[in-house]
Amino acid sequence: SRREGFSTIPNVKWEDVGGLHLLRQEFDRYIVRRIKYPEDYEGFGVDLETGFLLYGPPGCGKTLIAKAVANEAGANFIHIKGPELLRKYVGESELAVRTIFSRARTCSPCILFFDEVDALTTKRGKEGGWVVERLLNQLLIELDGADQRQGVYVIGATNRPEVMDRVVLRPGRFGKLLFVPLPSPDERGLILKALARKKPIDASVDLIAIGRDEACENLSGADLSALMNEAAMAALEEKLTAQSNSDVTISLTIKKIHFEQALKKVS
Ligand code: ATP
Repeated sequence: SRREGFSTIPNVKWEDVGGLHLLRQEFDRYIVRRIKYPEDYEGFGVDLETGFLLYGPPGCGKTLIAKAVANEAGANFIHIKGPELLRKYVGESELAVRTIFSRARTCSPCILFFDEVDALTTKRGKEGGWVVERLLNQLLIELDGADQRQGVYVIGATNRPEVMDRVVLRPGRFGKLLFVPLPSPDERGLILKALARKKPIDASVDLIAIGRDEACENLSGADLSALMNEAAMAALEEKLTAQSNSDVTISLTIKKIHFEQALKKVS
């Protein structure tokens, strides 16, 4: 994105995230409330994790949920893409890691999000060679500097947790593992509803029923977003065609037929 590596409060709201209720609860406890109501946590002496790893198939909402957490907490969000960090700062990626963490501390409370974090944390001595090894060591130093990490929460995301070096999964690092699965049939409906918030869906459309349809089996959130887009395009196409045959402006909503057309394209 435009502001990659820089901090902003993202505009993704919880209503934009479909399903994933358990994850929301976890993040509410571990991050949102801690930032908003720190006094509730004082006096209990609990040692709560500040590092998280979201893992699971692509396109199921890992990035989306991390942004919603930041928005909900009113925290800054720094988005780092693992492979880019390696490519852009060849020979200087350790310095880049140090700079990123120091920037995160400066704008705390802050969510530091490492997308495709596996690229930075592959098993030592295997894939990446010494560049990755030095980078990983620097990352561990930063993650372990917990005392200075006040108000900085680190969330990593990966589709390939198995290639990651186990040392990064210890408490205090990416210590809490959270699985982000493909949506269930009912969750597909909830995702469609979330995606429909800003779209003129006809009142007759039953998005939960569409989500349960066999044709949607195994679709990810990203696939459902593509489906929603195709349905909107089908409706738009119909409106434009109708208008080109007359001078009046016709307003059309997105109907079941448009979803049926879209499903044929997507699946
Ligand atoms: P990747 O592993 O490929 O980075 P990801 O799990 O981070 O994927 P996102 O980038 O969060 O996936 O999702 C991609 C897009 O798919 C989102 O911008 C959104 O439009 C849609 N999407 C995915 N999951 C959901 C969801 N649970 N609710 C609503 N929209 C979703």
